[in-house]
Amino acid sequence: MKLYSRVLPLFSFLLICLSSCSDPASVAVFEDNGKLKVTATTTMVADLVRQIGGEHVQVHGLMGPGIDPHEYDETFRDTAAIKAADIVFYSGLHLEANMQATFEAMNAKGERKGRVIAVTAAIPKDQLITPESDYADAHDPHVWGDPSTWSMTIPAVVEGLSALDETNAEAYRQAGERYAKQLEEVAKWGQQRVQEIPAQQRVLVTSHDAFHYYARAFGFEVQGLEGLSTKGDASLKRNKELVDFIKQRGVKTIFSESAVNNKGIAAIARDAEVVVSKEELYADATGEDKAETRHGETYNHSTYIGMLKHNVNVIVEGLK
Ligand SMILES: [Zn+2]
Repeated sequence: MKLYSRVLPLFSFLLICLSSCSDPASVAVFEDNGKLKVTATTTMVADLVRQIGGEHVQVHGLMGPGIDPHEYDETFRDTAAIKAADIVFYSGLHLEANMQATFEAMNAKGERKGRVIAVTAAIPKDQLITPESDYADAHDPHVWGDPSTWSMTIPAVVEGLSALDETNAEAYRQAGERYAKQLEEVAKWGQQRVQEIPAQQRVLVTSHDAFHYYARAFGFEVQGLEGLSTKGDASLKRNKELVDFIKQRGVKTIFSESAVNNKGIAAIARDAEVVVSKEELYADATGEDKAETRHGETYNHSTYIGMLKHNVNVIVEGLK
């Protein structure tokens, strides 16, 4: 009897939880305030939607700062956020390796049809970088490294939001244009700032191959320890190649990345007797909500523009 009185309440709580807690619809992610409900995967995509959607949308980002999108698995709360959203935006090009197949299937049919959108689908194929190794006939997904390429994702968001919310379509179009200009300005600023590094020292050694678009935009030669994805350990052969490269080229500083395991890059630095920058680069996620003024520029690390400015400043200070 005593046992019953203790166990029964617990048992009924479990029963209640099994029926309601397992239903993703029961997890509140959005407010019912009339604003468009948007779920976005990475911090860069969430920021893109916030810049364009402004006050007319509420954006729920699945991956926070420091989260590696290559390895990310959908959580219970994510399923709820995807289900509750009017529209879902993701990066694509297999960046969200464990989620893309589900997104493609959702976008093809059913109640989410046409509402689960890869922002990179708007980028013309000839703008994409195709790596020699790693994935044959696949494109490098790290397109945000080049602001002019990332700018080409703007129409996907403007069109996606406008299709569901015609009333504010003009506002989305204007915000998209404004944001494209801002990206153009940050690209010009970065290109000028990089001129402070002597041309032969514009060499970027990082944890994984996330900086090819960045290198194209700002004029760097780039070497990553790991491949395009962060999955799998770098081989001994690759370690030796990189150590030799650093010594030969007299590289002053190499860089670790946020959202990535940096043990490998620390080992390379020891072997090549070179410094690892004290500040990490933002590779596959923006930073925390932190504003900073540096080199005459004020920016917040949690935004895409802040991420770019931080990376430019850290790289220039490390290599010049
Ligand atoms: Zn990556």
